[in-house]
Amino acid sequence: MTSQPTTQPPADRYTRPFGWPTTLWIGGLHLAALAAPFFFTWSGLVLFGVLYVLTGLGITLGYHRLLTHRSFHTIKPVEYLFTLFGVLANQEGPLGWASNHRKHHTHSDEDGDPHSPEHGFWWAHFGWLTRPERIDEERKLFNVKDLAKDPVLRFFERFHWVFPIVLGVVLYFLGELWSGSGVSWVLWGVAFRTVFVYHATWLVNSAAHKWGYRGFETTDKSRNLWWVAMLTFGEGWHNNHHAHQRSAAHGLRWWEVDVTYMIIRGMAWIGLARDIHVSPKPKAKPGSRKSVWRILWPKKGRRMRKVTNAMQ
Ligand SMILES: [Zn+2]
Ligand SMILES: [Zn+2]
Repeated sequence: MTSQPTTQPPADRYTRPFGWPTTLWIGGLHLAALAAPFFFTWSGLVLFGVLYVLTGLGITLGYHRLLTHRSFHTIKPVEYLFTLFGVLANQEGPLGWASNHRKHHTHSDEDGDPHSPEHGFWWAHFGWLTRPERIDEERKLFNVKDLAKDPVLRFFERFHWVFPIVLGVVLYFLGELWSGSGVSWVLWGVAFRTVFVYHATWLVNSAAHKWGYRGFETTDKSRNLWWVAMLTFGEGWHNNHHAHQRSAAHGLRWWEVDVTYMIIRGMAWIGLARDIHVSPKPKAKPGSRKSVWRILWPKKGRRMRKVTNAMQ
């Protein structure tokens, strides 16, 4: 991972021009999601659940742990399948996503972090998406040259916006054929689901740098936040992740449930994952009822272990 400085001075964040296409797209999806309850069908709800899991894992397992951090390896067809799931989450292409996330780790909670609550909670949650950097592709993607060597990933990067639209059209016609509920399938399977996965992902950037407990004294403000971990298949154990960025496991204690890592272990069991990086468990004891209470309602500065912020 490079330490090349980002071209993004956060001091300019509120004076950057709006990225209207992205802002209108995200706003439109929110409006459509608000309409979803008025078009409720049970089949639409099932579709929401299935696509929430698949596209959520596309981000956590595909974009984040596999591509951005190379926490493990798998065969190319599986890598591309999870990349496709990530693309369907409609959160940029794989190279742009990985580039921003690597910047986040290089400059966590400092100038140059694309989304730190130190620059405002709502800025970290979604504001940064509405005011994108105006830089050319090469400068934007300077820190993902390893990924950009893969022509399939470059293809996904270039055409990522097509896939969610195609999914919406396909779901509309399938829903109409199934039970005349095409609109319901689009609203639940695309709009409401995308917005749900958006906020789950964004909470890692905002809430998991603000609330929760810290097991490691990293140089950033990252925290472990159980309810974000529940929503994001384990990504909420974010302080563990910042301390050991390359670890495929983000939940390090037995009660830090990490569904994404369980799936990676399952993949390894059937021969689809190898070279899995796992950080050592923290020395602090998981402990008593009192410490369970501390997980739910943490105080600052308990049971910290010093680590550097470097890639580990
Ligand atoms: Zn973070
Ligand atoms: Zn990360």
